[in-house]
Amino acid sequence: MSTFTESEERQELRKQVARLASKYGHDYFTGQARAGQKTTDLWLEIGKAGYLGINVPEEYGGGGGGIGDLAAVCEELAAAGCPLLLMVVSPAICGTVISRYGTEAQKQKWLPGICDGTSTMVFAITEPDAGTNTHNIATTARKDGDGWVLNGRKIWISGVDEADNVLIVARTEDAKTGKIKPVLFVVPTDAPGFEYTAIPMEIVSPESQFQVFIDDVRLPADALVGDENGGLAQLFAGLNPERIMGASFSTGLARYALERAVAYAKEREVFNGPIGGHQAIAHPLAQSHIEIEMARLMTQKAAALYDAGDEFAAGEAANMAKYAAAEAACDTADRAVQTHGGFGISQEYGMAALLVAARVGRIAPVSREMVLNFVSMHSLGLPKSY
Ligand SMILES: Cc1cc2nc3c(=O)[nH]c(=O)nc-3n(C[C@H](O)[C@H](O)[C@H](O)COP(=O)(O)OP(=O)(O)OC[C@H]3O[C@@H](n4cnc5c(N)ncnc54)[C@H](O)[C@@H]3O)c2cc1C
Repeated sequence: MSTFTESEERQELRKQVARLASKYGHDYFTGQARAGQKTTDLWLEIGKAGYLGINVPEEYGGGGGGIGDLAAVCEELAAAGCPLLLMVVSPAICGTVISRYGTEAQKQKWLPGICDGTSTMVFAITEPDAGTNTHNIATTARKDGDGWVLNGRKIWISGVDEADNVLIVARTEDAKTGKIKPVLFVVPTDAPGFEYTAIPMEIVSPESQFQVFIDDVRLPADALVGDENGGLAQLFAGLNPERIMGASFSTGLARYALERAVAYAKEREVFNGPIGGHQAIAHPLAQSHIEIEMARLMTQKAAALYDAGDEFAAGEAANMAKYAAAEAACDTADRAVQTHGGFGISQEYGMAALLVAARVGRIAPVSREMVLNFVSMHSLGLPKSY
């Protein structure tokens, strides 16, 4: 069998997830969002089917697969019109960090709920003043007897309202400045001193973003995941999965937009024959198909490298995949709107909402510019520019 295609098992997984997601679809997703409702029933169904924790070791309720499997689940959900950002944070980032750096007791406590969807964990690193410059985060952990006291602010944190816990990235009090040595804590969303407020967003999604206020939140010793002296490795463990999942979110969304545009281009007639017969409509869609396939291939490469344990090579590939996928998604969403003419802006067809959803991929989880900085420096050997 060619090594350039996914395994039969992976392809079958995609089919199964697509089948499950088709019961819900984009109308369900946007309908829930516009009604201020969540997609909990879909979340629980993918959890029950074993797809949500497919990357987590079997002994903790997972499927024992790799990030490539989880990325396939994320992509197929998005391709069916249900792009779920929380797939990126709960099983991919938190599931990976806890699987790799948690104690046995921590794994038993948190991983089963992440896998079956009954106890979602979200991820908080971004801060209002630090932004992209993670080395400047100011959320600080102070030792207090056996436990810790946490103080700080976080912003743009997805899904806090749907989560039982947040994996928070902080720094220790004795390392308040300079290069960050991150320390990670699992904080219950109902902990005294932990507050959050929703940020009104223009994204049509049931998943919301929040500003988080952490004021003297007291935590037991076992809230700390990994080394108490901090270490980049325990944070970086989550970042390659995050980028691979971000890429899959984008390629899935792009596939959905393209499928809808092609269907419309085949059926809409205004001159002689369907509008898809005009190259001005057909070529941009063909271009999108090529760009999406290239981004998917790079995403699969990044996942394969990560799952094979080559984190260094996976880092470069994951950045490139995330970049290519976000670009493909933004261009495809724009072309899908154009193909639909006036209906492209209507709520009924739902294409315009894809513009904003696709645009997220250029900003989060890492911005387009920071990927280009990475490639300039690490792939091309150019001087650091920031
Ligand atoms: C929908 C959504 C969901 C999110 N979910 C989460 C989440 O769950 N958890 C979490 O922790 N964070 C989350 N984020 C935050 C996201 O990771 C950040 O928005 C992103 O990293 C950019 O940071 P910023 O918004 O502070 O932009 P800034 O750092 O203020 O940057 C603004 C612009 O300047 C550019 N820029 C900055 N520095 C440089 C440089 N050195 N060279 C070139 N360009 C530069 C950036 O690329 C960007 O375009 C989410 C964001 C969004 C939009």
